Amino acid sequence: MIIKSSEFVVSNSDVAKCPNSKLPEYAFIGRSNVGKSSLINMLTARKSLAKTSGRPGKTQLINHFLINKDWHLVDLPGYGYARVSKSIKKTFQKFITQYFEQREQMLCAFVLIDSRHNPQPIDLEFMQWLGEHGIPFCIIFTKADKLKPNALTRNVEEYKEKMLEIWEEMPVHFITSSTNDLGRDEVLKYIEDLNNQ
Ligand code: GDP
Repeated sequence: MIIKSSEFVVSNSDVAKCPNSKLPEYAFIGRSNVGKSSLINMLTARKSLAKTSGRPGKTQLINHFLINKDWHLVDLPGYGYARVSKSIKKTFQKFITQYFEQREQMLCAFVLIDSRHNPQPIDLEFMQWLGEHGIPFCIIFTKADKLKPNALTRNVEEYKEKMLEIWEEMPVHFITSSTNDLGRDEVLKYIEDLNNQ
């Protein structure tokens, strides 16, 4: 898919105020600092469409971007940072839960995982919750350039093994790097195919 246009639409913390549109949308979510903003900028070929986070936990909003006037890319808040209070965590959980339960036009959630890290309970639990609620998702392993090829393969294999303890098969997954556009064509092709279904 060629990205011809990408524009910011709206930010909010209320699912009811998300764009009143039936365009297909794709959510990007992951632990804070996983490289989500960088990935969104890489996919859209825009330097700062999504704000790369200076301070983890600052962006607590659902951000809608309109791509090619054809679909929405949704930047969801990062989870799993230690410094926010319990009440913020609860509010976060509530509106994220509502987002996934209510946005029927959400065709796939891309769950971002830092390819350098071991499988983390918070990510595994989140994906389990998505599965239990019938919400389609893929995995994106980020920051692949930070690892040597062998280490990358080992980490992804380890992740697969962990996933297969819970899942019958490994969900669709992509390996990306925002510094060299690795995985960009594959992710955009996946979105294009879903848009055309
Ligand atoms: P977010 O909090 O998930 O939105 O993460 P950011 O996109 O702000 O990235 C967090 C940090 O990781 C920043 O210092 C980025 O420059 C860095 N980063 C993000 N993606 C990549 C990548 O693919 N490769 C490398 N080397 N660094 C990355």
